[in-house]
Amino acid sequence: MNLSCQSCGAQLVVAETLRTTTCPYCAAPSVVERPPSRDRPPPTFALGFVQTPAKAKELARQNLLRRSFWAPSSVRNASVEELRGIYVPAWLYSALAESDFSASIGENYTETETYTTTENGRTVTKTRQVTKTEWRPLRGRHTEYVPDVIVTASSGLPNDELEHIEPFDLRGLRRYHDALVAGWITEEPSLAQEQCMEQARDEVTAYVKKRLAAFMPGDSHRELSFSTRFHNEALVVCLLPVWVMALRHDLQKPPLRFLVNGQTGKVYGRVPVSWVKVALAVLLALLVAGGLYLLFSSK
Ligand SMILES: [Zn+2]
Repeated sequence: MNLSCQSCGAQLVVAETLRTTTCPYCAAPSVVERPPSRDRPPPTFALGFVQTPAKAKELARQNLLRRSFWAPSSVRNASVEELRGIYVPAWLYSALAESDFSASIGENYTETETYTTTENGRTVTKTRQVTKTEWRPLRGRHTEYVPDVIVTASSGLPNDELEHIEPFDLRGLRRYHDALVAGWITEEPSLAQEQCMEQARDEVTAYVKKRLAAFMPGDSHRELSFSTRFHNEALVVCLLPVWVMALRHDLQKPPLRFLVNGQTGKVYGRVPVSWVKVALAVLLALLVAGGLYLLFSSK
């Protein structure tokens, strides 16, 4: 059956037996039935779940404990309120990126410099070695095929959160088949293709920038600028296995959302900061600093 979250916009497809009244992404109780969507591209590939629910819980728990130092103490005892495996839709983008670049390349050289100084009341002339940089302009073209850029197609799972549980090992991709996802919650792409395409191009541009910076010749460079054109762009939908977990640590507060990469087990979740703990630590640091100051200044 087809469901839609009125809160985050996720477009879910679940089996009758998995019928849910709360959104697995945002926990909003505003999930309504919707007619099956047309004109949405069907997934081309899917990546299977490897981590079991028990393993996902354990990994999230370890992650939470490791990071609970600055968190309210209730966080250590957070319990898993809800755990759902979701096939999250993402765009798999690849393109040939052709970039024209220009930069100033610095070459270092040493020079012997003569200078005068005063020694024992007399003016003397001495020499020393100094390093100088000569700058020359460089222009060029860099072409590179960039495969496998993943951007979210889900309005329930923002791209920056998905990036935290990347990478996925895409060697495990299988051609999509209904049987692959039977019994799981799947989501249909709920973000527009053009919007995701822009996001993918931005990611490629950021990657190209790093690559260009890495292969600049010389001892240093500055004023690196480039413009990139994209050729042979390919964009297909794939389904990625993600465990979405709601961890309750305080009945008065919304649950913490943890994500576990269903393939690699990589965990991401925001842990709240206890400002009382931070304030106490700052106070303690000030006291120690003040104590040390008194100790040394009294000598
Ligand atoms: Zn939602």
